[in-house]
Amino acid sequence: MANYEFITSDGEHIPIEINVKRGMKNITLRPRVVCGARRIEISRPWLSTDAAAMRFVEQKRRWLERIFANAPCRGHLKSGDWFDFLDMRVHVLHDDTVRVTRFVLQDDGTYTLFVGGDAALLENRIRTFIKSELLKHIKKLILQTPREFWPRRIALRDTSSRWGSCSTTGTISFSWRLAFAPYDVMRYVVMHELSHRKHMDHSPEFWAQVRALYGFGVERAKRWLTKNGASLHQYL
Ligand SMILES: [Zn+2]
Repeated sequence: MANYEFITSDGEHIPIEINVKRGMKNITLRPRVVCGARRIEISRPWLSTDAAAMRFVEQKRRWLERIFANAPCRGHLKSGDWFDFLDMRVHVLHDDTVRVTRFVLQDDGTYTLFVGGDAALLENRIRTFIKSELLKHIKKLILQTPREFWPRRIALRDTSSRWGSCSTTGTISFSWRLAFAPYDVMRYVVMHELSHRKHMDHSPEFWAQVRALYGFGVERAKRWLTKNGASLHQYL
């Protein structure tokens, strides 16, 4: 097995593993991120060449870069850390004398999240808190729109490629990581998915609907996600 590398536009070297397989027709690519370690696995048919596999990698460069950008090394949140949560600055404090997670507004306008219980479960508890709060905000936004846009079900997911989706059965899903985005960016994703309740495409009519629900600034919210989306994956 030869040594190959994929060099991202940021200059990161990602090792590539090429496996030769019999009985296979096409070259397949599998980008992998395991605990921050990245690699690309390629399977190629026995009759093709490594060079052909590497050309295929180049053709898929943009897709690969996007996958790796959306899955950076996760940082850990610990007691004393700060994070952004829908325009709020939140200070995490572990307090094993309390049982319930408490979210307290301080005089300086910041928030303190007191998390009780076992320190080993701190991140789990923060995640649970963030998800349930985000869901409340999403539901509140939905209730402010006309009933015809309301979904049958709302789900939170941890997807790296999409911020939201709308199924034909009326379920709307969101990445719970939108909680780390500015409030208006989260609101944009909600209005985008609600607009799919009427238009299952990205036609001009669809975008007119998004603007009608969201108001001014759709482009700005989209730009924010393109530029900063990967940073929403930095914790937990
Ligand atoms: Zn869409």
